[in-house]
Amino acid sequence: MYNNGYALRSGPRQIYRQDRVRMTETKVFINNDNLTILVCPECGKVTEVDVSGYSSINQAVRISHLCECGYAHTLFLERRKFRRKKVELSGICVFGENKSKRRMTVRDLSRAGLKIELKIKADMKVGDKILVVFRLDNEEQTTIRKEVIIRNIIENINGLSVGGEFHPREFGSDFDKILGLYTFH
Ligand SMILES: [Zn+2]
Repeated sequence: MYNNGYALRSGPRQIYRQDRVRMTETKVFINNDNLTILVCPECGKVTEVDVSGYSSINQAVRISHLCECGYAHTLFLERRKFRRKKVELSGICVFGENKSKRRMTVRDLSRAGLKIELKIKADMKVGDKILVVFRLDNEEQTTIRKEVIIRNIIENINGLSVGGEFHPREFGSDFDKILGLYTFH
């Protein structure tokens, strides 16, 4: 209480606090497996959270998550189902500290994320953030350049199959509209 009172009297600190709270409100997309990946905005730690307790809720829910580093993080959980479109689009993905590049093929695509295939093994794991760059086969040949958090990796005879979620989500953005339109047809 004392700290709150102090912060309220202190102009700049109050603005700073408000700014931090606003900055850390993150929208999180819940998939059908009821697991979601959170990335702490302070320390970058990736946590996989079971959100099945919220599975019956259809509208957005706000929850608090306390990271191991002590950083409190407000999240909006949103359950949305998006049409997945089967595609075959080639592009590249960039991953790891050394920004390694691999050719990839996008196999399916939705407003929430995608599935890519790599012919050569790559040092990737669930929770890693990678960059994907590819071109849609729409009339505009839109280039998609977007960060993705890896949600699952399957190794098979064809190489690697990697499922990921766009991060951050951008509901209502141009990116979202383009993908919404593209995956609808
Ligand atoms: Zn943290």
